[in-house]
Amino acid sequence: MKKEQKFETKIIHDGYSSKDFHGSLVPPIYQTSTFSFETAEQGERRFRGEEDGYIYTRLGNPTVKMLEDRIASLENAEAGLAFGSGMAAVSAVLISLTKSNDHILCSQGVYGCTFGLLQMMQEKYGISHSFSMMQTREQIEEAIKPETACIYVETPINPTMLLIDLQLVVEIAKERNIPVVVDNTFSSPYLQNPIDFGCDIVVHSATKYIGGHGDVIAGLIVGKADTIKNIAMTTLKDIGGVLSPFDAWLLIRGLKTLPVRMDRHCDNAEKIVDELKKHSKIESIYYPGDEESPAFDVMKKQMRRGGGLISFKIKGNKEEAQKLLNELQLIKIAVSLGDAETLIQHPATMTHAVVPKESREQMGITDNLIRLSVGLESWEDIWNDLNQALNQI
Ligand SMILES: *Cc1c(COP(=O)(O)O)cnc(C)c1O
Repeated sequence: MKKEQKFETKIIHDGYSSKDFHGSLVPPIYQTSTFSFETAEQGERRFRGEEDGYIYTRLGNPTVKMLEDRIASLENAEAGLAFGSGMAAVSAVLISLTKSNDHILCSQGVYGCTFGLLQMMQEKYGISHSFSMMQTREQIEEAIKPETACIYVETPINPTMLLIDLQLVVEIAKERNIPVVVDNTFSSPYLQNPIDFGCDIVVHSATKYIGGHGDVIAGLIVGKADTIKNIAMTTLKDIGGVLSPFDAWLLIRGLKTLPVRMDRHCDNAEKIVDELKKHSKIESIYYPGDEESPAFDVMKKQMRRGGGLISFKIKGNKEEAQKLLNELQLIKIAVSLGDAETLIQHPATMTHAVVPKESREQMGITDNLIRLSVGLESWEDIWNDLNQALNQI
């Protein structure tokens, strides 16, 4: 039996065999919308599902399939599925798991557009949701309702960088037969693998660390083969948020360097946290890889390292937070994360502007909170820029 290979090897080789493609080292791009059948009968067999093979790119494409097999292998899951954006993935999963009058239990603090989707599902289809901090067994148990159809967790939580103990959530969910979905975007498959803790579906915005170069919008999910097949044949096929073969190819390319990039993101973030701690304009820092963080123990349990995202509060108000951003020269003011470039944003007026002020403050998103996606530049240059801007507020 083949010995199970390490993550760093699987990410370069799994799901592709060059001998099947004229020895082409890099997978080809199947830039085609449809596939011709040799006979009418073959077309009939393919549509009946009696014969494997491609039909039409919305239903499957070899380049996209390669990416799907690779992400499944990296997340230790049976199957993977690709989408045209992270939100296409999130919506396909939530719609597939719920029906009218169901309830979705979410971690307190979800991605802004996921929050928007939940509200829309409530208003249009009567699928309700509620939020829980999920920091203790009691907090999770008291939030579950008889009609809870799925538990949806983001960890680390955006942008407060609190963690949720996946093993604890799964334990409680399994007692009640409720599927657990984890948005693993912030960790990437290199830092955290929720399937290993018994989670049912993992979602990624591949736009972030997986693509890693700020040039693709995409989403990926993994889970059990029958769950993934069901989503492929319903909410992906019929709602149609598919990924293009070219974008799948860019992701296969970007993904190969994920472990190398991610270690550098983490190294840089750790250095920046050390410097921020010494700065007089900083009120508090949120980084799960910091030994002083309340999330550190859970980080050790379920993540390889603390990741590339840091949030911090400055001693100041909204105007000073905006001035800090405006004084930066190297660091770019932008939402998104996981790119080579260091990016900074102001959650209260950007990523979380749609969240009502009251919910925002419950989540700890105050006007003096800043989120930094630490890039791959020299950490000294990143710090020099941040330091000079902090000194001007
Ligand atoms: C960006 C992001 C999404 C949405 O992904 P898109 O690719 O922009 O559609 C979902 N969840 C998290 C945590 C994200 O950061």
